[in-house]
Amino acid sequence: YTRNVGPNIDAWSDFQPLGVVAGITPFNFPAMVPLWMYPLAIACGNTFILKPSERDPSSTLLIAELLHQAGLPKGVLNVVHGDKEAVDALIEAPDVKAISFVGSTPIAEYIYTEGAKRGKRVQALGGAKNHAVLMPDADLDNAVSALMGAAYGSCGERCMAISVAVCVGDPIADALVDKLVPQIKGLKIGAGTHCGLDMGPLVTAAARDKVVGYIDDGVAAGATLVVDGRGYRVAGHEDGYFVGGTLFDHVTADMRIYQEEIFGPVLCIVRVGSLEEAMQLINDHEYGNGTCIFTRDGEAARLFCDEIEVGMVGVNVPLPVPVSYHSFGGWKRSLFGDLHAYGPDGVRFYTRKKAITQRWPKRASHEAAQFAFPSNG
Ligand code: NAD
Repeated sequence: YTRNVGPNIDAWSDFQPLGVVAGITPFNFPAMVPLWMYPLAIACGNTFILKPSERDPSSTLLIAELLHQAGLPKGVLNVVHGDKEAVDALIEAPDVKAISFVGSTPIAEYIYTEGAKRGKRVQALGGAKNHAVLMPDADLDNAVSALMGAAYGSCGERCMAISVAVCVGDPIADALVDKLVPQIKGLKIGAGTHCGLDMGPLVTAAARDKVVGYIDDGVAAGATLVVDGRGYRVAGHEDGYFVGGTLFDHVTADMRIYQEEIFGPVLCIVRVGSLEEAMQLINDHEYGNGTCIFTRDGEAARLFCDEIEVGMVGVNVPLPVPVSYHSFGGWKRSLFGDLHAYGPDGVRFYTRKKAITQRWPKRASHEAAQFAFPSNG
């Protein structure tokens, strides 16, 4: 609010709701990802249509039910189920003014393109291939713990999972492999209903088969399979969709296991000769969601933060998921649109800005017509 921008003139900006907005969400984090969207959208004055993943829609229904019990008026949060057909109906509906999407890159690009064509505001967050750079001076034990959690937590089924460790020099790569192997072999894997486990099964048989296919592909391409998670069996759950923690060494940029998002418990080690080479590798990758550098060297860390083409960057922080005062989003083909999710960008996404300039002349005053364009002079 700016008072007296001219004689008796005040100016301010209003942030007004868009109306009906929609969210389309992925199977992983079926409660959290929708929570990036509808609380902000509703708080900004919109109504929300949520289309959760058809693979795990029940948590959304439970949350919607709880919100209605808590007094949220009918029609403010609406849940629709389905897959492409439901999504296309939302894209085509003229009343839907904006779409937030989180999921894989091909679908993100489709929704962004089709939504934008129809004049909708779209933020579409896509897939990832997140690299962690290990400098020769890294605190190795802490980096190993961080990598274990970041690579194998949630079975690697998260868009911020670290799936590539870029080691600067052979000594740090050799030491990393030595320390990772026993920890990967010691991962506690079992049914997702049990407590105290490190990993459960993958989401579907198709997801398991896809990950196993990538491991086959890595072997065929000549990468060194250090720990093989294929054929993992859990007693009492022989038909479960399990893949054990998997580690590849000597992975190169021309391999599919390096280029594509595996979305499973597979960590690839790439060996490079310098920080510059590591950064070039990351900057050349089509995805740019998250990344991290492990080092004690402030100059290296600063260069990395400045020059890396990735939307979320950690220094000795493996999963640099921004806290809610900052917004979440990747660069390159990890995000289509201009605004990131939640935080300040979320408020901008779910509102339209209106700039108001208001004059209340003194009753007795009279001003002659002015023909010049209003200026700040
Ligand atoms: P997905 O792209 O298969 O599905 C996401 C949503 O799109 C679902 O609601 C699904 O019903 C819908 N959908 C699927 N096929 C469609 C089609 N042909 N046309 C229109 N809509 C369609 O993704 P997923 O497998 O559920 O989730 C995993 C992916 O999501 C990974 O690529 C992961 O990296 C990504 N992800 C990204 C972020 C991020 O913040 N960038 C967060 C979580 C997950």
